[in-house]
Amino acid sequence: MTLKFHNTLTGNTDDFVSLEPNKVSLYTCGPTVYDYLHVGNWAAYIYWDILVRVLAANDYAVDRVMNITDVGHLVSDADEGEDKLEKGAKREGKTAWEVADFYGQDFIKNSDRLGLVTPQHTAKATDFIPQQLELVRTLKVKGFTYQIDDGIYFDTSKFPTYADFAHLNLEALQAGARVEFNPQKRNHSDFALWKFTPFGEKRDMEWETPDDLLEQRVAAGGATPTFNVGEDNIKEGVNQSTGPSNAEQGVKGFPGWHLECSAMAMSLLGETLDIHTGGIDHIPVHHTNEIAQSEAATDKRFSHYWLHNNHLKVDGTKISKSLGNGYTLDDLEKKGFTPQDYRMFVLQSHYRTEGNFTFDNLTAAKNRLHNWRNSAALRHQIHNTLHDDDNRGVDDNKSISLYATSQALVEALNNDLGTPEALMIIDEAFSRLANVQLESIHRHALVELLETIDETLGLQLIAHSPDISDDTKRLIIQRAQARNNQDWSQSDILRNELLTQGIVIRDTLSGSVWEYVN
Ligand code: AMP
Ligand code: ZN
Repeated sequence: MTLKFHNTLTGNTDDFVSLEPNKVSLYTCGPTVYDYLHVGNWAAYIYWDILVRVLAANDYAVDRVMNITDVGHLVSDADEGEDKLEKGAKREGKTAWEVADFYGQDFIKNSDRLGLVTPQHTAKATDFIPQQLELVRTLKVKGFTYQIDDGIYFDTSKFPTYADFAHLNLEALQAGARVEFNPQKRNHSDFALWKFTPFGEKRDMEWETPDDLLEQRVAAGGATPTFNVGEDNIKEGVNQSTGPSNAEQGVKGFPGWHLECSAMAMSLLGETLDIHTGGIDHIPVHHTNEIAQSEAATDKRFSHYWLHNNHLKVDGTKISKSLGNGYTLDDLEKKGFTPQDYRMFVLQSHYRTEGNFTFDNLTAAKNRLHNWRNSAALRHQIHNTLHDDDNRGVDDNKSISLYATSQALVEALNNDLGTPEALMIIDEAFSRLANVQLESIHRHALVELLETIDETLGLQLIAHSPDISDDTKRLIIQRAQARNNQDWSQSDILRNELLTQGIVIRDTLSGSVWEYVN
């Protein structure tokens, strides 16, 4: 079976070939932990969870880093504005460290509730400051950096393929540069590797800028240090240093968001990755910058495959704070939807198409999952089971092609994570189950299919379709006897008793089948 992914780097759907046989190094851009994640964020992480599961189903050992951005992600992509973490701290009257810790833990807790496979490395940007400074150092030594009042920047004009990944028209971008464009920057697309704490400010999160990373200091009588920003960068009126704070304590600063990902990816996974993932919003800036600084530092390809998820809208509208439509998993839970209902909703769309969240769509996903759990519960109600493996082909005919369904499911996912097709294959198999005599279903084949579904889609069907107790089974037998004896009132009493236990009896062509009420 070939595994294929749509690769943003090539623009094609490419066969997947890993650098080392049966091993995959994978980096997923993680959340900025200044607030609760909304359904859009979670959709992204559910899709990348499917990627990990599909790689495992193809016998790859996955070594994966998911970062947690706990510093340096500024409100604007143009390296301007407040750090989201410091902003969150002001909002909540806490320190940025406390905010990061709180929302970071909430992210891990909810990842577990969603059944997301835990990455081999969950890396916080603040734990990788030395590695980030080292990357700045390498870039400085190689001549890719320059310093202005508010930080150390990457000169994108020195990286000739800068525009290629996102097919950027740099001239048009430069021409349309917005007001907030920092006039000290050499090129519009240049980005901060390391920002200095603004003069007179004290940030919760700041680190000493090593002396060797700074341009020559111009001593100013022991007062505020100013910097030699290079003649050609100084534009009129901006060369009075607004920059680094506090001469006695040295120059404090913090990393740029893009730098974090490159430094963590390369220090944990090596200079070249197999796969890097993120949202489509990352293509023109964040990932373009990651590629530029990583490849400038190493002269090697940073990642061979780049996968991007499209965005989820809510009621056809972009998710935004001001609209209050960024539902959290807790919001869904309050309305009666579990994390698995939400996972099913996400899988109904392909990761590269724009999704639309509505409560109607979520209800449809919930119902589908409910029906699937009842199909899964059939394994407790069928008897002819074990067989030896030599008879698989024969058995598969008898078991309405359940083994073939497992394979078809993995094949659908191997084709660029085709989750909607995979769900349809499962729907068809379960509807075949509903239309045969129970005796013709092999429990082993059904269990194998359920295991494949759980492994590849993480829907936890087996865990959420438990057998009923012996007492409940006794009630079902008593009810059947009452019906045989045409004792309808007793039969009704027993039916109601079963209902209170969350079980309903459905009379099918193979006799009575029990199902969960909800
Ligand atoms: P952030 O915390 O803003 O860095 O976002 C975390 C992740 O969620 C990033 O990978 C984004 O690409 C992704 N993301 C943000 N909004 C959406 C959305 N509406 N739909 C899907 N993914 C999103
Ligand atoms: Zn990133």
